[in-house]
Amino acid sequence: MTQPLVRAVGVVKKFGHTTVLHDVSMDVQPGQVVCLLGPSGAGKSTFLRCINHLEPLDGGQIWVDGEPIGYRVRNGKLYELRERDVAKQRRGIGMVFQRFNLFPHRTALQNVVEGPVQVRRRDQAEARKKAMALLDRVGLADKADAYPGQLSGGQQQRVAIARALAMEPKLMLFDEPTSALDPELVGEVLDVMVGLAKDGMTMIVVTHEIGFARQVADHVVFMVDGAVVETGPPSQVLDNPEHQRTQQFLAKVL
Ligand code: ADP
Ligand code: MG
Repeated sequence: MTQPLVRAVGVVKKFGHTTVLHDVSMDVQPGQVVCLLGPSGAGKSTFLRCINHLEPLDGGQIWVDGEPIGYRVRNGKLYELRERDVAKQRRGIGMVFQRFNLFPHRTALQNVVEGPVQVRRRDQAEARKKAMALLDRVGLADKADAYPGQLSGGQQQRVAIARALAMEPKLMLFDEPTSALDPELVGEVLDVMVGLAKDGMTMIVVTHEIGFARQVADHVVFMVDGAVVETGPPSQVLDNPEHQRTQQFLAKVL
């Protein structure tokens, strides 16, 4: 067995006195796609935010590519990282949100070029060339000079995916990337994500798109009230759920 790209062990997260993640554990192998399902308030977004240390943990630990998130290991001990070093770890993890979060006064191309040039200090001409290739990959080469306001929601979300990929992440996190889209625009974004999965990107995807989960997920994780209720291949969790909560949830979204 190879080393998992993501290993979460006993993750606990509290907001004040409320525990929103209870002992959440999961492994994601390199190249796997895990779909995270569950009702609103289950803790799915919080868990994603813990993976890239946007939320500090109250218990447990998460490793990405063998590195403990938020810490460094020295002589077998964990030392908390400074914010600057946390930011460095975070660069290896792409995140795409429900809202597209593009810079409104920059073109699609500028949005994609920004990270590699400003953060990774890449050469401008090379970064532009790579950004064009990424826009092409998400089917938007002809929209390179368009501003976000001139693009549909689906197009904006595809630019957001290209922007995340420009940082050459080893892991992509998606938090309901199609939930804010008009129904007719969902497919074009899912198609890009299916392509990414086929190309071997490791992905954790919070989604209610059961068809997508069935098509690309290696594992489906079903969460309720901050805990993992059921996990397994889509054929098991989606078509043959063991738990009543999973059955109830699927009856609603299918
Ligand atoms: P999901 O993404 O599954 O809908 P969330 O992770 O957004 O769930 O939320 C899980 C729980 O944590 C909810 O009860 C939510 O109200 C609470 N929560 C999320 N973020 C915060 C925060 N910053 N402060 C306080 N409570 C929060
Ligand atoms: Mg959420």
